[in-house]
Amino acid sequence: MSFRILVVAEQKNGKLANVSYELITAAGKLGGEIYTAVLAEDATALASELASRGGGKVLAVAHASLNYFNDETYGKVISALIAKYKPQLILGPATFYGKALFARLAALNSGAMASDITALKAEGDKIFVTRPAYGGNVLFDLTAADGRIFFVTVRPKIFSESSSGAGEVIAETVDSSLLASRSSVKEMVSETGQSVSLTEADIIVTAGRGVRGHENLPMIKELADALGAGFGASRAIVDAGWIAYSHQIGQTGKTVNPKLYIAVGISGAIQHLVGMQSSKTIVAINRDKDAPIFNIASYGIVGDLFEIVPALTKKFQAVK
Ligand SMILES: Cc1cc2nc3c(=O)[nH]c(=O)nc-3n(C[C@H](O)[C@H](O)[C@H](O)COP(=O)(O)OP(=O)(O)OC[C@H]3O[C@@H](n4cnc5c(N)ncnc54)[C@H](O)[C@@H]3O)c2cc1C
Repeated sequence: MSFRILVVAEQKNGKLANVSYELITAAGKLGGEIYTAVLAEDATALASELASRGGGKVLAVAHASLNYFNDETYGKVISALIAKYKPQLILGPATFYGKALFARLAALNSGAMASDITALKAEGDKIFVTRPAYGGNVLFDLTAADGRIFFVTVRPKIFSESSSGAGEVIAETVDSSLLASRSSVKEMVSETGQSVSLTEADIIVTAGRGVRGHENLPMIKELADALGAGFGASRAIVDAGWIAYSHQIGQTGKTVNPKLYIAVGISGAIQHLVGMQSSKTIVAINRDKDAPIFNIASYGIVGDLFEIVPALTKKFQAVK
């Protein structure tokens, strides 16, 4: 059976997030007819980029009020596209935006919802998705009940980015009543000190209580900067007030999946591991050779982080 799939691309400040191209790859695995929706002030330019990378029929909804993500207006506009094009599967990113938007979309369309999936496949006239639970210790397959549109958010960094493929841009206009909202975003300000998004980062350096105090965090940040990495934190140092919650990785923080994860002064409590253990390569720096983090580390460095981190930073800066 050929499915009609709608990918919802993510843009921030008028720039497409890489995860949008991962969603196109995920959609391509099902072999169906791909549509991609992009909502932005300058949606046509973004749509051309998506079309040149396999986005299929790229539906561009351009309006100044769509420049910033607003789940209320985005929900109404995408629902209008769903009513017009009748896809069976809607794919979005399991990011802050995607999670907010897709729960709303599923409710608005009385659909079925699966979040943060890591695999998908077609079997007969059904689409099955795999969703990890209990920190990845249990994987279960889900499908939508008959007749329900399936809303699915996909974990970033699982699929590769599509780099080429066929596509065409279709300019869509929507009724202005759909753009009315009780709230609006006036401005987007990046948080100081976090230049790389954690969920999109290929490399993450994370600091734990072993760093002893907030005054030592710049030393870890310097290592992150030398690698062009995102800067993560354990809950222990977030709770201690050394760093903002937006950096927290783990059960009650972010789930990340980078190519390289460097854990500095982190013991490896299960609540931390569930947020990062699917990272491709894990390097742990800890002075306690029995720290649980070494059970999942690809490479372990047993020693004092105050000696090891500056030495690594120096090396990485030298090869930059
Ligand atoms: C419901 C619940 C939810 C939770 N959610 C999260 C979550 O989302 N994320 C999270 O991270 N935690 C979470 N936690 C907390 C978690 O259980 C741990 O308490 C926390 O992860 C510990 O953080 P840590 O590894 O930084 O600190 P610690 O466990 O104190 O570990 C510090 C490590 O640093 C090492 N060290 C010390 N000095 C040095 C040095 N000089 N050089 C090298 N190594 C050194 C020590 O050997 C030690 O292993 C949660 C807990 C609960 C109950």
